[in-house]
Amino acid sequence: MRAVRRTPRYGTLNPDFTDETVIVTGGASGIGREIAQQFGDAGATVIVADLDEEPKIGDTPTHERIEEEGGEAAFVRTDVSERDDIVTLVEAAREYGGVDVMINNAGLFIEGSILELDPEDFEAIHNVNAKGVYFGTQVAANDMLDRGEPGTIINTASMSSHYAQYDQVQYDSTKGAVRMITRGSALELAEHDIRVNAVAPGQIATEFAEGWSEEAAEKAANDELIKMIPLGRAGTPEDVAPAYLYLASDAAQYVTGELLWVDGGWQVF
Ligand code: NAD
Repeated sequence: MRAVRRTPRYGTLNPDFTDETVIVTGGASGIGREIAQQFGDAGATVIVADLDEEPKIGDTPTHERIEEEGGEAAFVRTDVSERDDIVTLVEAAREYGGVDVMINNAGLFIEGSILELDPEDFEAIHNVNAKGVYFGTQVAANDMLDRGEPGTIINTASMSSHYAQYDQVQYDSTKGAVRMITRGSALELAEHDIRVNAVAPGQIATEFAEGWSEEAAEKAANDELIKMIPLGRAGTPEDVAPAYLYLASDAAQYVTGELLWVDGGWQVF
């Protein structure tokens, strides 16, 4: 197994999002928390949208942490499965000049075989992962058009956007939808100068499902996970967040409809 190199060797990027307003749904915890933090570090005004203000790991809410470090941030309690909540969220961004970057990242995970699908679980997971992204895209794009400002939208997809896993048909179907919401919206919104892309994280150590971060560490310690990931380790939110900054930036001005894998090479198998 090759050694994993963590020290930057090829230089670093210094993103600057001063005067930009970024909404991050699911920004209280996990991947969204790190995305919000990195945009805050890059000078953006960050609006954290989540059901919960408190993070699952750590004790300072994301927006407070950004403010403590000298940034500007706010929290808007939002249930992304409710379109009205998304409208309120996007309106709240007007106070900061309006949303420039909309990140539809909130997600839910429910396991279960196709043979035993519970209709209520089906609705719950589709309402958050698919409907939340669909209306997050729609409401943000309309607001950008109303303000006459271009913008960009980034959705959180998954390995599950392409690949099936046992007992994950519900989750897979929502993430497959995210992929096509991204592509379809990219097609329609290009003429309005709104780019729409997705990031597909691999196995990232968060508490997405309870005990997941420890499970990933345990699998990695047993080599079970490492065998599937060419770069030799599970990912972290810190590995994933820069992809969102790249896609939001002018460096990606000719990129739309893309699904960017950030998975340590997992999907190449
Ligand atoms: P997480 O549980 O740490 O974060 C998800 C956040 O979404 C939480 O803060 C939660 O409160 C919020 N949320 C859930 N339902 C919501 C709702 N209805 N409205 C608003 N907020 C809601 O998990 P994570 O791993 O950071 O997941 C973030 C995204 O990354 C999800 O879309 C997930 O599908 C995706 N993803 C995660 C992994 C992974 O390995 N962790 C891999 C691929 C994709």
